[in-house]
Amino acid sequence: MKAEQVLTTLKQRFPNEPEYHQAVHEVLESIEEVYNQHPEFDKANLIERLCIPERIFSFRITWVDDKGNVQTNMGYRIQHSNAIGPYKGGIRFHSSVNQSILKFLAFEQTFKNALTTLPMGGGKGGSDFNPKGKSTAEIMRFCQAFVTELWRHIGPDTDVPAGDIGVGGREVGFMFGMYKKLAREFTGTFTGKGITFGGSLIRPEATGYGNVYFLLEMLKTRNIDIKGKKCLVSGSGNVAQYTCEKLIELGAIPVTLSDSNGYIYDPEGITKEKLEYVMELKELYRGRIKEYAEKYGCKYVEGGRPWGEKADIALPSATQNELNGDDAEMLIKNGIFAVSEGANMPSTPEAIEVFLKNKILYAPGKAANAGGVSVSGLEMTQNSERLGWSKEEVDSKLKWIMANIHENCVKYGKQSDNFVDYVKGANIAGFMKVAQAMMAQGII
Ligand code: NDP
Repeated sequence: MKAEQVLTTLKQRFPNEPEYHQAVHEVLESIEEVYNQHPEFDKANLIERLCIPERIFSFRITWVDDKGNVQTNMGYRIQHSNAIGPYKGGIRFHSSVNQSILKFLAFEQTFKNALTTLPMGGGKGGSDFNPKGKSTAEIMRFCQAFVTELWRHIGPDTDVPAGDIGVGGREVGFMFGMYKKLAREFTGTFTGKGITFGGSLIRPEATGYGNVYFLLEMLKTRNIDIKGKKCLVSGSGNVAQYTCEKLIELGAIPVTLSDSNGYIYDPEGITKEKLEYVMELKELYRGRIKEYAEKYGCKYVEGGRPWGEKADIALPSATQNELNGDDAEMLIKNGIFAVSEGANMPSTPEAIEVFLKNKILYAPGKAANAGGVSVSGLEMTQNSERLGWSKEEVDSKLKWIMANIHENCVKYGKQSDNFVDYVKGANIAGFMKVAQAMMAQGII
């Protein structure tokens, strides 16, 4: 297998899907050497079977807004691979959603889920519906219309969706309610549910907490204490909020947050109280991060991203390709020694090259943000058992899983000079597990 050749063919067969090509390119580059040590993989054309999703559903969603206007959106579900378990991955509601973005996310999800130690395949779904400015009644009607199409393709042992950008506990609740009605069953078909109807404790916190647990493992390899370290966090949604919460608890100092309009820089640090305000602002009032700067009198940069501010650690937690090569150079110049990704593919290939060249601690999203789907997997287990575990139990399992992912990255990513290439480590570890399962199950 030649990575470039496979990619060229995929680009010809699936043109105009740049995000999908980008995600595939990164994995192929990492696994080329290992793949070529296994001629049986090539004989089974494993690489194409692994890159092309098993199934894609796309459908029209029709709903009525508060003014009585009939609206349409597109909905999708990508079932990428069920080699090691039922398809599993979030639902994204954002105006930018298209097939390329969901294909990249489902592809990444397959390797991420393989790293978690839990039996979950990879999938992703969503819609180009823009939840901004919509009333709760409109959100509910949209979620119900979305599930009216989706429900027949999912199930507790088939495909288990969860949240992602624009989809939090409220939206999962609405989707689960409609699913339950149509399927006439009460099962764990969605994760990220409310605590009173089968949700797991720590699920809302899991991606952010897990990212910080992964960061701690990386820092340990260089004997660095997180206490007092200044952190650049982007985004201000679920992942960013709980990343900040854990950082503050451990004595680190988050100094930035952002949304799609701009970023705030608070040199005094975002405290527990200030974070509570952010959570209320975002979850209750659906406001903009600019209001933080107005309330606490700090800097706000309209249209900007936080990567030019001085700090020690960066945790991109908003969206894909939010950190480019120039941003990465700036981070290095300002003394950043660790980057741990809460978002999926937030760094462009040029940025990753800069991190690896400078040998900083760099954790790609598929390893560092796997805590969210891990606790989703634990939610599925609790639903199957019809039991709910304590906060401590879920948190300790999350810590164990993140440490295990780190160990696997080190195992496959350690270079001859002892530098750990976490990109390579995560890609090879995830790939080997899925590849071996596919080989064992024959040509299907
Ligand atoms: P939320 O919707 O809760 O928050 C997203 C945040 O990112 C918001 O602050 C949003 O700002 C900002 N954002 C979204 N799109 C853009 C954009 N194009 N440019 C600038 N800012 C943007 O989503 P999550 O916190 O759940 O997800 C964040 C990232 O983490 C995503 O990449 C997601 O795939 C990934 N992830 C999430 C998991 C989870 O469990 N939720 C699990 C693993 C990964 P605004 O409000 O202005 O849109």
